[in-house]
Amino acid sequence: RAKERGRNRYEFFTAEINERVQRRIALESRLRLAVQQSEFELHYQPIVQAEGRRPVALEALLRWRQPDGTLEAPGHFICVAEEVGLIGEIGAWVIETAIRETAQLFGREASAPRVAVNVSPRQLRDPSFVIRVTEALAAHGLPPNRLELEITEGVLMDETPEVTDALHRLCGLGVRLSIDDFGTGYSSLSYLQRYPFDMLKIDRCFVSNATDGAAAARLVETIIMMAHGLGLETIAEGVETEEQFGFLQSKGCDQMQGYLLGRPAPLAEIAARFPAADAPSARPLEMAAGDG
Ligand code: C2E
Ligand code: MG
Ligand code: MG
Ligand code: MG
Repeated sequence: RAKERGRNRYEFFTAEINERVQRRIALESRLRLAVQQSEFELHYQPIVQAEGRRPVALEALLRWRQPDGTLEAPGHFICVAEEVGLIGEIGAWVIETAIRETAQLFGREASAPRVAVNVSPRQLRDPSFVIRVTEALAAHGLPPNRLELEITEGVLMDETPEVTDALHRLCGLGVRLSIDDFGTGYSSLSYLQRYPFDMLKIDRCFVSNATDGAAAARLVETIIMMAHGLGLETIAEGVETEEQFGFLQSKGCDQMQGYLLGRPAPLAEIAARFPAADAPSARPLEMAAGDG
């Protein structure tokens, strides 16, 4: 009987694995098509200065338009894209689109809002990445300091010379570098010294706990002090309540991002929140938003 049970269990597992593999293969081929048929869109979420809540940047967040019209967030499909080697193409589209849309909407002044783009490990290892970024900036006339690249700290785990070199070249161009999701990865504090980061994004899990107790509060306070001590600006992610905002501001956090300040939305919607006077060289809004 035990043997039979064992076999049943085995068959159960194979069926399940089989189904998972099938789903995975289906997703992979849908992703390949999505790249060709440009089913991707960018939403943007405002990042505001803590003092005065003036929006200073937008984070570009990838969305995938489904046949039924709904938008899929990248949580799952980004991982698959990385594994099957599609992230290079998708990532290149994201960078190009984010730079183009930002330049169109806000113009080319160095003081206009910046755009923050998430970058995957694979992309940084690709020797053509830095060249692509340089070309996209030049093609759309966006000053390099208006582009921020967000790198999740886990990425830096494998310290290949390619990654180190890419980060230093990007820094040399004047592009700003942020360490994303700080505190969640396999953090090594020495990264902060070794790589030319400008900003540190405090992960949402610390932000949501910050107002729950003295220990969590001290942790956030310490992260902010440490970042400042190393010459990094701090951005709090996932700020959802006034209480969190007030606490973070009182601890000197420089910038805030989260549902309290604005949810990710199509560029045309977001644009309404930014003063148009900042964009003398921008094209009319209808053009930038026309293909939505
Ligand atoms: P992330 O870079 O840490 O981006 C922040 C995520 O938190 C976004 O999820 C955003 O919608 C969400 N968020 C913002 N404010 C709040 C809040 O107040 N509360 C809550 N609960 N969530 C908030 P999203 O858009 O689903 O993106 C998830 C992750 O996918 C991103 O995390 C980023 O790591 C990755 N990602 C997004 N776009 C791209 C892309 O173009 N390329 C790559 N490689 N990764 C991307
Ligand atoms: Mg990010
Ligand atoms: Mg991230
Ligand atoms: Mg993050």
